[in-house]
Amino acid sequence: AMLLPLLSKGKTIGVISAQSDRPYAFDESDRQLFSGIASQVAIAIENVALFEETKRRLAETRLLQELMQTTASTLDFDEVLARAMEILKRHLRLDQLTFTIPSSDGTALYVHSSLQGPEVVPPGLAVPLDRSVSGMVYRTGEPQLIPDVREVPYFFGVTPGIRSELTVPVKVADRVVAILDVESYQVNAFDQEDLQLFQAIAAQLGVALENARLYKETRRRLSEALLIQEVMLAASSTLDFDLVLERTVKALHRALRVERVGFLLPDEQGRFLVAYPHASEAGEAGATRIPIANTLAGQVYLTGQPVLVHDTAARRVFPEQDSTSEPTVRSLLAVPVQSGPNITAVLQAESFRPGAFGEDEMRIFTTIAGQLAVTLENARLYKKLEAQTAELLKAYRELQEVTRLRTELVQNVSHELRTPLSLISGYTELLLEGDLGPLSPKQQEVLQTIRERSAGLARSIHNLTMLQNMPRMILERTQVSLADLLRSAIAGFQMLAEKSGIVFREELSADLPPLWGDRERLELVFGHLVENAIKFSPHGGTVTIRAWADEQWVYASVKDEGIGIPQDRLHLIFERFYQVDGSASRRFGGMGIGLALVWEIIEAHGGTVTVESEVGRGSTFTVALPRTN
Ligand code: ADP
Repeated sequence: AMLLPLLSKGKTIGVISAQSDRPYAFDESDRQLFSGIASQVAIAIENVALFEETKRRLAETRLLQELMQTTASTLDFDEVLARAMEILKRHLRLDQLTFTIPSSDGTALYVHSSLQGPEVVPPGLAVPLDRSVSGMVYRTGEPQLIPDVREVPYFFGVTPGIRSELTVPVKVADRVVAILDVESYQVNAFDQEDLQLFQAIAAQLGVALENARLYKETRRRLSEALLIQEVMLAASSTLDFDLVLERTVKALHRALRVERVGFLLPDEQGRFLVAYPHASEAGEAGATRIPIANTLAGQVYLTGQPVLVHDTAARRVFPEQDSTSEPTVRSLLAVPVQSGPNITAVLQAESFRPGAFGEDEMRIFTTIAGQLAVTLENARLYKKLEAQTAELLKAYRELQEVTRLRTELVQNVSHELRTPLSLISGYTELLLEGDLGPLSPKQQEVLQTIRERSAGLARSIHNLTMLQNMPRMILERTQVSLADLLRSAIAGFQMLAEKSGIVFREELSADLPPLWGDRERLELVFGHLVENAIKFSPHGGTVTIRAWADEQWVYASVKDEGIGIPQDRLHLIFERFYQVDGSASRRFGGMGIGLALVWEIIEAHGGTVTVESEVGRGSTFTVALPRTN
């Protein structure tokens, strides 16, 4: 027999053998002939192999090219993966192909899509990080080529009957953003060439996905800003607490497209959180009242720390009452709405998809919650203010009514008093004049007292009526001298002053301008101020009466060394019927109308009355009247 190697570039690619039933059937010339044939065959085989290789490379190149073109024409993450899936399915004969993606916090892997569809491998299926080839690839960032999955202890079988697997990471920079996983029912179905091809595919996908991510990021930032703007606008356009919440929830719901968004507000007893307006799809409401104890939202309310649950299936913290125990709710985000040290509400979103919330949503929610806290606090204060205003208004109305009743009372009483009083005065005059017979000195003395007192009473009633009619007061102005007015007031009270041990001091400027005023009423003003000065100086002392003028005003002041007026009452003494000591056991008489009248009269003249006082040291009342040049 003769055996010759088929050599191609120094590599044996086969053997050519010739057999004969004779010994020494082949000689050197045969060997040379065969050798020639062998090299010809080798070249032919080589060519075929090269052709196959070229064809394969070409197909691969086409695949990659198509992948590049198609995936580059979309900027949507899901769409990139969907198109890649479609292209790979068309170009390669694959038993199973699955894309897996990590959750935003990198703690879990979820199936994105698979060749055999959702019936075999449901999207959203959680792939264990520590017990799967994809998990291994995700953690190490290195591809895995597994000839026989039965030899790999951490193989995570989803599609039944799978024997070999090739898994490569799709990376952006150094981050694994997706995992491409091909499986076969055959043992040892993938070789190094496949590995290289899929790595090239993964590289291609990485670029497309990164573009999609960047685009999405930009768009998201934009819509995030718009969303926050919208919420703020909605919130700031009203101070109605309920409306603020409602509008915010609507805006959030529209923007985030999650199944449920809502606020949870504590109830009066602080034992439950009550859902406030819950925007949800198909009017589906969810729990409207959840306990604060042992729930996630309750925990957020109590601690002020936000909570983000990527997958409730993986983390059922409070299995009993929590909404995370609802099987439909797969992920959850709850942030506190905090104003100052108080947590006023919890802003919560729930999704039926796992991993619906990430850092972005957390950021949006926190921002919105922060802004809302201010708005809600304003709204709350406003609500309180509204209630207070209503109360005040009620009190004011009551006061108005009391004032009206008082006015009526005063009018009636003064009317009822005036008639009998004038009768008393008349008869007293008659008696005193001796018209009704002679009087003993004692009787005369008594009648004198009756006359004085009646006159005093008549003055009081006159003052009362004058005060009541004040709004309609018409001044009878003539030219008057302030000095004269003051001197007559002093003269009028000289007797009373002497009785009370008071000394008057006059300091009247020589060049006082004349005034244009109502003499009778101004007399009343200064008379009353002087009378008060005497009345409220129980231990005597000096009452100083001054008068002076400047460019615009003419001033008169009455200063005493009496009991003084407490600082916090100063603003009240000009009120009608006000007395610092209004008790029945008060030391000083009066009705509390004198100063009110003084005020009204001076006001009607376009002037002002001010008072300075110190308890125990005395008071000074100053009247300023405009000059009439
Ligand atoms: P009345 O006629 O009761 O004195 P007024 O209107 O004149 O009423 O004064 C109101 C209150 O102001 C008085 O009851 C008194 O408490 C206080 N008051 C007025 N003048 C003086 C003063 N010169 N010194 C101390 N208290 C005064």
